[in-house]
Amino acid sequence: MELDRARPRRSVRQLLHDEQGRIDIKSMSRDDAIAWMMEEVGATEGQALRTYKAIWQKGARNFEEIDQVAGPLRKKLAQKAYISFLAPNLVLRSSDGTVKYLWTLEDGEQIESVLIPDGDRLTLCISSQVGCAMACTFCLTGDLGLKRQLKPSEIANQPLQVGRQLPEGVRITNLVLMGMGEPLHNLDNLTRALDVCLDDEALNFSHRKITVSTVGLVPKMGELAARLPVNLAVSLNASSHEQRAQIMPITGRYSLDELLQACRDFPLPSGKMITFEYVMLRDFNDSLEDAERLVGLLEGIRAKVNLIPYNENPDRTLRRPTDEAVDAFQDYLVKRHLNATVRVSRGRDISAACGQLGKAAQQAVDEGWLQTARAIAGM
Ligand code: SAH
Repeated sequence: MELDRARPRRSVRQLLHDEQGRIDIKSMSRDDAIAWMMEEVGATEGQALRTYKAIWQKGARNFEEIDQVAGPLRKKLAQKAYISFLAPNLVLRSSDGTVKYLWTLEDGEQIESVLIPDGDRLTLCISSQVGCAMACTFCLTGDLGLKRQLKPSEIANQPLQVGRQLPEGVRITNLVLMGMGEPLHNLDNLTRALDVCLDDEALNFSHRKITVSTVGLVPKMGELAARLPVNLAVSLNASSHEQRAQIMPITGRYSLDELLQACRDFPLPSGKMITFEYVMLRDFNDSLEDAERLVGLLEGIRAKVNLIPYNENPDRTLRRPTDEAVDAFQDYLVKRHLNATVRVSRGRDISAACGQLGKAAQQAVDEGWLQTARAIAGM
């Protein structure tokens, strides 16, 4: 803690430049990056686009290696800009195939991404903030508080760098903003990062395969829809306002009624639904009365429900419901024609499951553990 305080902190704005004053070109959208290259180093539009593509599609590490543009231009670029990367600190592989990546950022902060193979799908769960300000009682990331926002490059580098580590022909199919942080609390940087993720000259994900998950920052939900055509997931986690307020402090700011109204108002393209995540806590929100109330709440909303049996951890006395309770709850919803799935817990042995992110980051400073894990992951 003392050490933490002694380290000079740089704001996210300051982090957009390196110590030599060069700009983080990966934190710009395509349009901004191209305009910047044309203005600042006199690139033609074609040269600027080739450089942008080399950065995002070929994973260029520095300007010198971008031989699609001429030497003198590369030199000028290298004087004024830099290509940022996340430093891989640790890679943990779970017995179920889940992989957790722990990254160190330029100012020494740490974040995590989790890669989840599931049949034909390969989903990457990425972080949007260091820590989180939302303080949901059941979530370990909340214990960290909000340390800082991630800049756009720190968000988009997660899929870039994990993607490049995969075997030939294997691609990340889905991106979910369900890692550390509240994505709508960092909407400007998120927008810029997702711009690159969606851009066919960059990471080229389909908007149908990107899901942003939120505690329900009501005013930001409409803003997200106006900016990006991605899927929305809402962490509902309760069947009444009072119950939700007990575990999610944000409920004091935006009531459950306001949240549900924002969901009704959310401009959904045809065929799309809002996913409602519901963390199930034993003897708290796992009864059939809860299921009944939940059905009532979601009436009139194009909704699907994702039940997440609570992932227990030693820092909390909260318990996961019995399998019978989860099954009965799901059955109740399905019989009332609600699309309800149960999220299978993945990567629990490496603290990669929902709500466990951030915790291991605190423990990863063990040098021996670090080296073993690097060897296991072949890094
Ligand atoms: N802040 C966003 C993104 C985080 S997503 C949001 O809240 O939606 C993390 C998801 O995991 C949320 O649905 C959250 O409710 C759930 N979660 C958090 N802690 C959990 C735990 N210990 N077990 C199961 N799910 C948990």
